[in-house]
Amino acid sequence: MKYFYKNLSIWLVIGLVGILLLNVFKQQPDSTIHVSYTDFLKQVQRGVIPDIRIQGNTITWTNSNGETFKSVSPENPAAIDPLLKSGINIEVRETTKPHWFLQTFLSWVPFLLIIVLWFFFTQQSGDKGGGGKAMAFGKSRARLIDDQESKVKFKDIAGVDEAKDELVEVVDFLKDPSRFTEAGARIPKGVLLYGEPGTGKTLLAKAIAGEAGVPFFSISGSNFVEMYVGIGASRVRDLFKEGKKKAPCIIFIDEIDAVGRHRSSGGGGGNDEREQTLNQLLVEMDGFEGNEGVIIIAATNRQDILDPALLRPGRFDRQVMVPLPDVGGREQILKVHAQKIQVSDDVNWKIIAKGTPGFSGAELANMVNEAALLVARKKDGSKVTMDILEKAKDKVMMGAERRSLIITDKEKKITACHEAGHALVAWMLPGADPVHKVTIIPRGKALGLTMQLPEEDKLSHSKSYLFNNLCILLGGRVAEETVFADVTTGAGNDIDRVSDLARKMVCEWGMSEEIGTITFKAASPAPGYPGPIVSEATAVKIDDAVKSLIASAYSTSKKTIMDKRKILDAMTQALLDHETISHEDIKKIVMDNS
Ligand code: ADP
Ligand code: ZN
Repeated sequence: MKYFYKNLSIWLVIGLVGILLLNVFKQQPDSTIHVSYTDFLKQVQRGVIPDIRIQGNTITWTNSNGETFKSVSPENPAAIDPLLKSGINIEVRETTKPHWFLQTFLSWVPFLLIIVLWFFFTQQSGDKGGGGKAMAFGKSRARLIDDQESKVKFKDIAGVDEAKDELVEVVDFLKDPSRFTEAGARIPKGVLLYGEPGTGKTLLAKAIAGEAGVPFFSISGSNFVEMYVGIGASRVRDLFKEGKKKAPCIIFIDEIDAVGRHRSSGGGGGNDEREQTLNQLLVEMDGFEGNEGVIIIAATNRQDILDPALLRPGRFDRQVMVPLPDVGGREQILKVHAQKIQVSDDVNWKIIAKGTPGFSGAELANMVNEAALLVARKKDGSKVTMDILEKAKDKVMMGAERRSLIITDKEKKITACHEAGHALVAWMLPGADPVHKVTIIPRGKALGLTMQLPEEDKLSHSKSYLFNNLCILLGGRVAEETVFADVTTGAGNDIDRVSDLARKMVCEWGMSEEIGTITFKAASPAPGYPGPIVSEATAVKIDDAVKSLIASAYSTSKKTIMDKRKILDAMTQALLDHETISHEDIKKIVMDNS
């Protein structure tokens, strides 16, 4: 609706300006030749003018060559006497005024413009609860929820304990900024919460304000990006001004990717307005000190497209991942929301949690709410049962936009086996980075993830280390193949990375015996690919070398998995049970099964 009014007002303005211009041009003189009144009279006396037309004060006539002349007579009616005497033919015409409608319209133009603009701006500030402040041109439109309203506490948020742990410090700071500044501690100015939609990022930001008892301003990044250049930037300025007045406080910017998208990455086609807004945001963040007690919390589900400038020290340098909940997290979230409804004794939240892999906190909340509605519709005062929750789950699943994220049992099994494969190979190969955590909770496009943490920062990699990486990357696919005698597309990304890494080892780092220590980097179309300077024979050789490197990594991977099949199966089962397993869990599984 907002856009409708915006467009309407713009077309109105364009239309009005057009009409004005048309009028100006209509009054431009044509090719008539101007003659003074005296000359005109002389010509009349000489009898060269056959007939004239009089309209108001203007006299026009045409000579025998067809040229048109024009003269202006004095206002005095007596001026017509000499003409009458000369006996020429006089045609007097009614003076035409512009059409009454046009005239009235034009005299109303300024008023109309004001009305249109007024309408437009009240409409704008009214649509997001901005109190309908007329003419609040470029005001921040941030919604203030003061500490009375923001009753959300950390205990209302479940399944994101790691994120909460990281945010406790922010709460402590807001409660008593002076304690921190006296100690000379560096306070974060900006915290970026990132993760799938509905994982509780907004809720976390509110809870920080709620726990600390400070005001909470919230605004969405998309509100900044308006049609008119300069408004977004002025909104940002305003928001910070307001925030500083109310410090200590939280400013929450939802969907920061709407403004904070990488500046060169297009997407919207050179949006100057967005860039200006982003620049203003950067300027404001640099311009205040952390100890002023304002903390900016931003949320996004597209952390990968953010402009790196936003993530630099002194800006959103603290980044907290808010993941989709695992099985235990889902159980807790369900229980948090179940407190608000009547639940029958047969409900086992653990079972429901197991049956909802890939659900976000929002979807779980939604499901509990749907169940309550289903019961309410019955009007018999009954309570929510397992059956009803099952129905509610189906409803939420059907309505889920991210259908791809809702996982079937079969997919879950395959994913668990795939990740267990990566983890097992990583665990068994000497010199590989230790496995930190394995999860089959989907994240972005990946269905699962095996996280390895290097023991120290490595500046260069040995051939054996890189070879191990090839084996680990292949481990997922090999495990699927070994267990299910079939493969899925799930390993697509792994295979890309394997090919890439193997090519680089051959072409850039001289790690293949067949090719030797030559690089083929120069003039290559993409890193790792030989450029046109390579002869065809060499290109074939390179391909062979890459293939044999991958084949040898594959057989190492296969051997590891065949030898330790028992551990693979145990790890797969553990992943199916818990969805996430830690370094310690794996250690135990390996000990129990070897
Ligand atoms: P996001 O900002 O990450 O998109 P929200 O914070 O807006 O998600 O979550 C929407 C709703 O989903 C919340 O109001 C809450 O009811 C529910 N919710 C999401 N995550 C959780 C969680 N971890 N614990 C409890 N409720 C949650
Ligand atoms: Zn994989």
